[in-house]
Amino acid sequence: MGTAMPAVGIRPRSGAPLAAEPAVEIHQHPSPNCGPRRDGLIPRFVVLHYTAMQSADAAIARLCDPAHEVSAHYVICKTGRVSQLVGEGLRAWHAGVGEWQGFSDINSRSIGIELDNDGQGPFAEPLMQSLEALLGRILVGWDMPAQNVIGHSDMAPGRKFDPGPWFDWARLEAQGFAGKRDVEAGQDDPTMDNFSRIARRAGYTAEADPDTLLATVRLRHRPFKTGPLEPEDFAPFKRSTLRT
Ligand SMILES: [Zn+2]
Repeated sequence: MGTAMPAVGIRPRSGAPLAAEPAVEIHQHPSPNCGPRRDGLIPRFVVLHYTAMQSADAAIARLCDPAHEVSAHYVICKTGRVSQLVGEGLRAWHAGVGEWQGFSDINSRSIGIELDNDGQGPFAEPLMQSLEALLGRILVGWDMPAQNVIGHSDMAPGRKFDPGPWFDWARLEAQGFAGKRDVEAGQDDPTMDNFSRIARRAGYTAEADPDTLLATVRLRHRPFKTGPLEPEDFAPFKRSTLRT
């Protein structure tokens, strides 16, 4: 217990206690690839990744190798084992160049979770269960809304594609661990310009040409869908359109 507490001196924004007891055991495997969060920032987002490697052990070795200068706060392997590489109060090096909701330096603003998956097929059930337990703990601990759980691709369109089309976002949404999409199709003005504007409002503010943006949004909301823009591509954003 308490293994994932933020670093000394950095408290959750709400001041609320962290989830009492994690439903998942967390194994410590410290990585040297980290530093302080810049400008006193605290985690505001969770960024999900896939490892795209042969094994979680290989991924952990890489994420702990100073020569690679990459890391993440957590790695979840196919068996559901959770390893913590970087304390939540520290800045891990997982997000790189990108932007979400107009915010850059996502590393200083997020907690990064690497999922043991090669991007070629479904994510293992024990992995998903551990992810849900971990997300529950993080969202409570940092007083974060579910819609602030994003994919690496969301903040780095065209540059990153993880967690990829096989990741079950709908499941996370149903459990309250990701922002719920809307389901109503139809849009009065189904043009690429309008799509870009609405997607931008929903958080996709990173630099991207219209086709890349459409592919990025589909990766999460309409996996494996290709072809020209359709009215259904607007469906996930109906609520955010109305809200703003
Ligand atoms: Zn990634």
